[in-house]
Amino acid sequence: MLADRAAFWLTVIALSVGFLTFAAWLFVGQSITFAIERMATVMVITCPHALGLAIPLVVAMSTSLSAKNGLLIKNRSAFENARKISVVVFDKTGTLTEGKFGVSSVKSTDGNHDEKEIIKFASALEKSSEHPIARGILEKAQELGISVPDVSDFEAIKGKGVQGIVDGQNVKVVSPGYLKEMGMDIPDHAKDEQLTVVFILKDENIIGTISLADKIREDSYEAIQKLRELGIKCWMLTGDNNQIAKKVNDELKLDGYFAEVLPHEKLEKVKELQSKNEYVAMTGDGVNDAPALAQADVGIAIGSGTDIAAETADIILVESNPKDVTSLILFGRATYKKMIQNLVWATGYNLFAIPLAAGVFYKWGIIISPAVYLLILWKTAIFLYFTAIPYYVFVELLTVYCYMW
Ligand SMILES: [Mg+2]
Repeated sequence: MLADRAAFWLTVIALSVGFLTFAAWLFVGQSITFAIERMATVMVITCPHALGLAIPLVVAMSTSLSAKNGLLIKNRSAFENARKISVVVFDKTGTLTEGKFGVSSVKSTDGNHDEKEIIKFASALEKSSEHPIARGILEKAQELGISVPDVSDFEAIKGKGVQGIVDGQNVKVVSPGYLKEMGMDIPDHAKDEQLTVVFILKDENIIGTISLADKIREDSYEAIQKLRELGIKCWMLTGDNNQIAKKVNDELKLDGYFAEVLPHEKLEKVKELQSKNEYVAMTGDGVNDAPALAQADVGIAIGSGTDIAAETADIILVESNPKDVTSLILFGRATYKKMIQNLVWATGYNLFAIPLAAGVFYKWGIIISPAVYLLILWKTAIFLYFTAIPYYVFVELLTVYCYMW
């Protein structure tokens, strides 16, 4: 980290310049008292000084600012490095999408039932299910203002759907697998591989189909757009088939995607991008994202995701908003800029203050007693205050205050 490096060099400089000052004054024939006084002044000026503190204060400020903006920073170096990110890889389900199914279309197959009737029958059967597909259908029923009828003789068809008696009729909601098993033809319009389709059967006849899709988060559109405006490439990783991946890719205008990625391959895809000299951030929510989160240069977890993802990641998006990835990068950049700015000020100041304290200008009668030096510190602090670097000034004032008492 920058702060550690700066503090290290500061210590080296303080000690070596201090001893050098001591040796030099002895060498030119000054008294030991004089030499020690000059050495002490140099070390006192340098050691507890803003050069080492300017950065930690920026760090503290940026951490609390980030927290207020929905970023939980677990790893400081990763945060500092966020400014270097050139590619952000997003997991699809649960990260770019909501991870829940919404009804995208309802179609009548026999022409005798309208959308409301099909949803009514399906929702009656799905009423007690916790499955994401069931929840999607029930949401649609609510949206259409349908009062969901009761069901009797409810039964699950293992792995293939559910059945029961609704309004005195034998109704089933089943997957394509059930139709295949029964030797029934899948209607042409339901062969779209981009969607998850369920079939509604009445007395073994298909009366309609419901197509569902995992909804893209509203915030994902803006997140991708903003990242691309910043010149950062956006990629997507998913285990889903190529058609589903391509649809999301086109919709969000991503730079590219990896589809049909097996869980253990996610990490390989991150490595692949890294080998192309990209600085990769991985954003994910699932258990299977964890190795990729660890491999990425910056691992970002969605707050609503699994504990393992959160555990592995460097940064957690508390509000589960992909837009916060942009804030993270902007914060990372701003923090670094502020650190550099403070370092430049502090270094410039030391370039002036250290030789003065060492007594370099003694020959011309300029020798600064500790009291006068405090005055200079004060003036510098006031000057810095008006040049708008408050953290630095704060440290300066604190330092001066400590010296005075
Ligand atoms: Mg996921």
